[in-house]
Amino acid sequence: MIEVKHLTKQYGGHVAINDLSFTIEKGSIYGFLGPNGAGKSTTMNIITGCLGATEGEVLIDGHSILDEPKAAKKLIGYLPEQPPVYPDMTVLEYLSFVCDAKGVKAGEKRMRIDEAMEKTGIAEVKKRLIKNLSKGFKQRVGIAQALIGDPEIIILDEPTVGLDPTQMIEIRSLIKELGTRHTVILSSHILSEVQAICDTIMIIAHGNLVACDKSDNLTRLLSASSILKIETDAAFEEVKTILSEVKGISNICKSAQENGITHIDITPESGEDVRMDVFKAFAASGAALFEMHTERASLEDVFIELTKDEEQPASGKRQGRHSKGKEENEA
Ligand code: ADP
Ligand code: MG
Repeated sequence: MIEVKHLTKQYGGHVAINDLSFTIEKGSIYGFLGPNGAGKSTTMNIITGCLGATEGEVLIDGHSILDEPKAAKKLIGYLPEQPPVYPDMTVLEYLSFVCDAKGVKAGEKRMRIDEAMEKTGIAEVKKRLIKNLSKGFKQRVGIAQALIGDPEIIILDEPTVGLDPTQMIEIRSLIKELGTRHTVILSSHILSEVQAICDTIMIIAHGNLVACDKSDNLTRLLSASSILKIETDAAFEEVKTILSEVKGISNICKSAQENGITHIDITPESGEDVRMDVFKAFAASGAALFEMHTERASLEDVFIELTKDEEQPASGKRQGRHSKGKEENEA
């Protein structure tokens, strides 16, 4: 549905996005996840034809956003970070204005407006001035605006920013609902939000795409980087001897020592379950094992890990690091 090829945007000498390439398939909800300044808005502005790229190309259903903007833009509804709503218009006046701007035929206008209002639940406030609406309703009007023309693709830049928790939940479920009929791309810096709404997560950091995978796969990828935590009465040196024969361990370290108890973190080699062998080794040694549990990295950890680097030079070092197969955490 959308093909993004080698997209780069520089503001002056500053690289905002660096050689981004990805494909958006029809009918899913995609989440651009990244900290502030990662390049999410820049990417969305380029995809929607609001901003020119320094290099690269964007195809919307085969139409270049640059060479065939009319055909390409017809397929997209966009809610930018700053919603383009006019505070002194009523909801109806505003949506009618949007219809004109999008070239909706006069005879279809009423129907299109009713449709968009119905989908976003704003019919009850249609005669109110936009400036008098709550932030949640303003955001719904912004989404209604994107829906006018019934575009196949809906792009929403940080659609829940500034909403209170109730409004947030409402907008999230509205987006999920939209996802049943449209291809949706949204951006967010909130991991749990992207996890809750999106089928596919694309993590962007410093203008690079650092991960792109199904939400479930990213979580699974993380579980490969689990740590086995144990507590024992043996001293650290002794623990190292006890575990020296256990296969599948990549690292052992002491995380704490208190009241005669040593807290140990065991990092298994990827995919290894060493619990049984650790237990047997301790049993054979006569040392006590007070505690043993597995701590899985959360998506949060991965997000932090992937985005923690300082400003990335335009080296593309992390480029193309898609989360297929094993994780690469050698640290
Ligand atoms: P995000 O939406 O992920 O917060 P942006 O795409 O807005 O990130 O910004 C990416 C980078 O580009 C940031 O470092 C930002 O400061 C810079 N940037 C964005 N817009 C401009 C602009 N118009 N002029 C100069 N730098 C910009
Ligand atoms: Mg932004």
